[in-house]
Amino acid sequence: MAAGGAGFLRLQAWLPIPSLRAINIYPHPRGDGSVDLVDAGMYTARCVHDIIRGLRAAGLDPCRIERIVVTHFHVDHLTGAAILAEATGAEVLLGRGELELVLSTGDPAPFIEAALKLFAENGMPREEIDLIRRSHPAMRAIEAYKALSKLDLKPLSEGDTVRVGERTYRVAEMPGHTPGHIALIEEGEAYAFTGDLVLQGITPHVTLHDPDTDPLGDYMASLERLAGLGLRLALPGHREPIEDPAGRAREILEHHRQRLDEVHSILEKHGEATGYQVAREVRWRVRYTTWDEYPPAERFFAMGEALAHLRRLEVEGRAERVERGGLTLWRPL
Ligand SMILES: [Zn+2]
Repeated sequence: MAAGGAGFLRLQAWLPIPSLRAINIYPHPRGDGSVDLVDAGMYTARCVHDIIRGLRAAGLDPCRIERIVVTHFHVDHLTGAAILAEATGAEVLLGRGELELVLSTGDPAPFIEAALKLFAENGMPREEIDLIRRSHPAMRAIEAYKALSKLDLKPLSEGDTVRVGERTYRVAEMPGHTPGHIALIEEGEAYAFTGDLVLQGITPHVTLHDPDTDPLGDYMASLERLAGLGLRLALPGHREPIEDPAGRAREILEHHRQRLDEVHSILEKHGEATGYQVAREVRWRVRYTTWDEYPPAERFFAMGEALAHLRRLEVEGRAERVERGGLTLWRPL
């Protein structure tokens, strides 16, 4: 347990995701000895065990978790709540967009299947898709999503205020990383809990699961909004607190603008290309030299990210989609 800045408690719980290694959970003690949490960790014994031990080490009673506010539906932020809420009766709150999208069915599989169908239409070979399906971390947490969907989950919307511990936060809808991602902004707008909106050293993943949405456009708008808030501190879902959230938001915006140009130049080189070709040619910041070395999770990220950029280029009028023989090809404009 460490102070998370501005007098916050922050505990780090282990994740079986090598690029992240841990998630930040922010306990908020209440005056009566109970405790509220921002984010809930992952549906694994070791992660939840870390949360329980971290709370005890801070003199808090893990049996008295009253309220859990979750920044977004991803497996590492939400699914630990299935265990914590079962054990304590805590109420679980998350963005209305997340509730509508994933938990209405209590099963992340249709969401992932929609993405994989899109990947197939964009040229990813069948055997790679099967590999991703077998290894996606959310597939290992289906029981958790099912359990959560049976709880009385409370939706949070833009402008709502929510009490967490002895503090009150305003809810800001910050879509892009996920469709219903929220941030919790302190009333004086000095700091916020920002989930995976901005992270240090890595750029949060943006993927496309519906070709008619524009998640990268949404994400860039959320970054612009964050940059305009004038926060002194962002308390993120992973890694260390961010002391210049506006500066970090602008860096990530610049990264995506450069990536958009790179994807556009790949299209120009080929005249037309599938999303899969683009995903293989982008110079991702990874330690693998050839596509064959990419583990399935990295292929999922690369493909989703490539498609999010292609779709953004289309919305900006810099690319167009052509359907041919069941395959989607992208052309530069
Ligand atoms: Zn995360």
